[in-house]
Amino acid sequence: MSLFVTSLNSGSNGNCYYIGNHDEAVLIDAGLSCRETERRMKRLGLSMHKVKAIFITHEHTDHIYGVSRLSKKYQLPVYITEGTRNNHRLHFQQHLPVSFQPYKPIEVGSLTVTAFPKFHDAADPHSFVVAGNGVQVGVFTDIGRPCEHLIAHFKQCDAAFLESNYDEEMLETGGYPQRLKDRIRGGSGHLSNTQALALFTRHRSAQLTHLFLSHLSANNNCPRLAQDMFNAVAGKTEIILAPRTQETAVYHITNAPIRLGRAVKSKVAEEQLSLF
Ligand SMILES: [Zn+2]
Ligand SMILES: [Zn+2]
Repeated sequence: MSLFVTSLNSGSNGNCYYIGNHDEAVLIDAGLSCRETERRMKRLGLSMHKVKAIFITHEHTDHIYGVSRLSKKYQLPVYITEGTRNNHRLHFQQHLPVSFQPYKPIEVGSLTVTAFPKFHDAADPHSFVVAGNGVQVGVFTDIGRPCEHLIAHFKQCDAAFLESNYDEEMLETGGYPQRLKDRIRGGSGHLSNTQALALFTRHRSAQLTHLFLSHLSANNNCPRLAQDMFNAVAGKTEIILAPRTQETAVYHITNAPIRLGRAVKSKVAEEQLSLF
């Protein structure tokens, strides 16, 4: 009753999130090059051959950079809306792209992936929740502001990648042009640390064991600051920074009741990796 999750990279330089069980997995976004995706998966003991599909949140380069190559090499279906596809010159082999509808669950083996729309300055942006083995994992980055869908899904999650993009003061006093500052914080850009923290404190479920702080800005945030803010109110939830430069460890997310030993849920030990 568990899922294995990792962030292969998180930030405006590339996003790719792996969620899977023992037999199959999906990638949410493919913003690293094909080679770098393979390299990081290998370092973690994960096999590309377990990946059965790629889901694309939106067309910004940091989410799609490696998708054409990766899908071609491994012959992976790419779940992408028409709107996203048409707004970027993406080249796929004809049989690989598959359109999807929000709220309509998609089955990938025994995993179920559900999309819902989000506020972001892209053509047709979506967030995804991956469910399997009784566990739900959300990927919630590139969000201008929270909406009722985000809140409803976040409440159900056992683990979530949650954007914590910028510190409001650092953005305000930093060197970005005014237009860019306004884009980031204008409701269709990114979530601030404060907005993410409010979502976490008000709407997390009792079963949220892992929160991955994601898509941190290189210029307008400080990883230590963000982590300290969340750690201060984390309770039993483990707060993990998803770096801009490397993969996280593989985390084993289980919905086993706490009394059965949540201790086994954390970083996957070497012997557990042999299960992949
Ligand atoms: Zn992004
Ligand atoms: Zn974006």
